[in-house]
Amino acid sequence: MGKESLDFARSSAPLVGEATDNTAFDRITRLASTVMQTKMAMISLIQDSGAPQLASGPGIEAFDAGQSLPFCQYAVASDAPMVVSDAQADPRFDHDPLVAGGPRLRFYLGVPLRTRDGATLGTLCTVDTSPRTPSADQIQMLADLARMVVNEMELRQMSLTDNLTGALTKRGFEQRVEAERIRCQRAGFALTLVAIDLDHFKNVNDRFGHAAGDSLLRAVVDVCRDSLRGCDIIGRTGGEEFVVMLPEMPGSVAAKVAERLRIAISELRLPASGDAAQITASIGVAMLSPGAQTTQQALLRADIALYAAKARGRNRVVLDPAML
Ligand code: GH3
Ligand code: MG
Ligand code: MG
Repeated sequence: MGKESLDFARSSAPLVGEATDNTAFDRITRLASTVMQTKMAMISLIQDSGAPQLASGPGIEAFDAGQSLPFCQYAVASDAPMVVSDAQADPRFDHDPLVAGGPRLRFYLGVPLRTRDGATLGTLCTVDTSPRTPSADQIQMLADLARMVVNEMELRQMSLTDNLTGALTKRGFEQRVEAERIRCQRAGFALTLVAIDLDHFKNVNDRFGHAAGDSLLRAVVDVCRDSLRGCDIIGRTGGEEFVVMLPEMPGSVAAKVAERLRIAISELRLPASGDAAQITASIGVAMLSPGAQTTQQALLRADIALYAAKARGRNRVVLDPAML
């Protein structure tokens, strides 16, 4: 599913990619609740904590934000759909607060959401307050709907992650910047954008071949990742062009980070070429003041600074004048 971790959020927030909508997932969960004739049908997603938390679907309002169902833990560990016909008669669940009290859940059918390469993302589950035994056809239908959920997630992830380098695609990056802009605006933080364009990259391809160029592009992303914090985001916005987003970082620190990236890139060597395949980068840096600017305006300012770096001789960092 790509190197970027899946960034799923709960409830009305999109399941994959902040600016995409959940229409496809909402349709599937609605269909699941109709097929199963249950009040609730939801998608749960495994978070960093390891617990599958409820993410979207009809009936989710009955639960707290980020809540986990006790059943989903079992369902994600299972190879097959998991049926709990009556949770109140099941010693694994009868003392759970959601079963003994609260919504008094009784019925659960959950199917693990598993990708082709075996990763488990969460569950598609149907839940109700009255006990029942689903038919084999109903279980098969829920399993088919779960496959559709995984397909949709994989397709979205592919459109957001660059195959070659594992960085976000232009689309994925712009979505993340926009989401961060909104978050930073609420919190009163600034964001910095660092636009990077490799210098004379065409010459690298011409001298060492396209495959060597590809290796260098991957190495650039790896070396940037090594120099950045976990919360920083890297997007491949063009062939040999990248933008890094640095949230909640003062401009003076961001300028130092950009310089560190420039040096790290200039120290990269392609193993097969001895010291011959060396690259440098021109870098433009601009602040995004979340309340005052759009993402596109800030990206443009970073790009203008980048072109100034090219014009001044390449292999250098230029700051947007507003940062000086
Ligand atoms: P400048 O310093 O002005 O940026 O020069 P440049 O040669 O880097 O710029 P130009 O835009 O002329 O060429 C970009 C080159 O990047 C041309 C293209 O072959 C190469 N490139 C773009 N995408 C890829 C890719 O995915 N793999 C490889 N190997 N090369 C790529
Ligand atoms: Mg370029
Ligand atoms: Mg270039």
